[in-house]
Amino acid sequence: MSIKVTNLTKYYGSYLAVDDITFEAKKGEILGFLGPNGAGKSTTMKIITTYLPPTAGTVEVDGFDVEEKSLDVRKKLGYLPELNPLYYDMTPVEYLDFVAKLDGVPASDIKKRREEMIKVCGLESVRTKDIGTLSKGFKQRVGLAQAMINNPDVLILDEPTSGLDPNQIIEIRNLIKKLGREKTVILSTHILSEVTATCNRVIIINKGKIVADGTPEELQHKSKGQSVVTLEVKNNCDKSALSGSLKEIRNVNKVEFVKDTGDSFVFNIYGDKGADLREVISGKVTQNKAVLLSMQAKQSSLEDIFRELTK
Ligand code: ADP
Repeated sequence: MSIKVTNLTKYYGSYLAVDDITFEAKKGEILGFLGPNGAGKSTTMKIITTYLPPTAGTVEVDGFDVEEKSLDVRKKLGYLPELNPLYYDMTPVEYLDFVAKLDGVPASDIKKRREEMIKVCGLESVRTKDIGTLSKGFKQRVGLAQAMINNPDVLILDEPTSGLDPNQIIEIRNLIKKLGREKTVILSTHILSEVTATCNRVIIINKGKIVADGTPEELQHKSKGQSVVTLEVKNNCDKSALSGSLKEIRNVNKVEFVKDTGDSFVFNIYGDKGADLREVISGKVTQNKAVLLSMQAKQSSLEDIFRELTK
């Protein structure tokens, strides 16, 4: 079960909202679509879910083309749109039965599926209350339940935690993580912490283009920032000889002597982005017959990268 987006482009009139993007999402993946407002996230999701046609390029869901096989695609996926459309005068039970019927769940399975969704999404306590009277968190859970009622292999969730309070956010994130083990999930967000908390892969999109794609850790390594290692050695060594030999390391741009603590020397060693210099530094320490007390590597944070890529 996969989603394959190839050279996807979408114009609204003459406005280019999605600009030639290509990516794939596989089973077991929770893919976070991260980008500022207006980046093109919802547009891409609407095309994947067959609600909008692409201007150019193709999207396949489990091998079915969204334009040519839209009914097959719809059967495979569940969609929580940004503006979660619910019937406020129905109860969760009535609404889920209604959606199940629309989604083609066989009549004999509807009750069973509905009860499963009520359980998974924690809707027991509100099952017979009018949806209009429910809190935002419960409404969002009803939205998730309707997206999953036909047991889809693919879940597309547009800003699934927007408008929720911190406790509700944690609950919905945990629910998504649980679901993500067996399904392919794409969720969109403009909040960085959302992807680090929930997703195992991130695509950063800006002005309709993909500007980064990888695990949160990979993106950190790819950043333009430098890696920094803080090194502490016992001060019974030749400081300038050690400093000189650290400067010789490939990928090291600068060695800075930070301080003499009285019994140790502290250095900051700056290297190329993504380079892990710890092993070679420890070799140089040994060569210089210095005693290693501690070593700590720091990379640019994902937040630095997001700002760097979307500014
Ligand atoms: P995001 O979900 O990342 O916030 P959208 O996909 O909603 O971004 O929007 C991308 C761009 O396309 C925005 O500049 C938005 O104003 C524009 N846009 C979205 N929907 C329409 C539409 N129906 N008609 C014209 N422009 C639109």
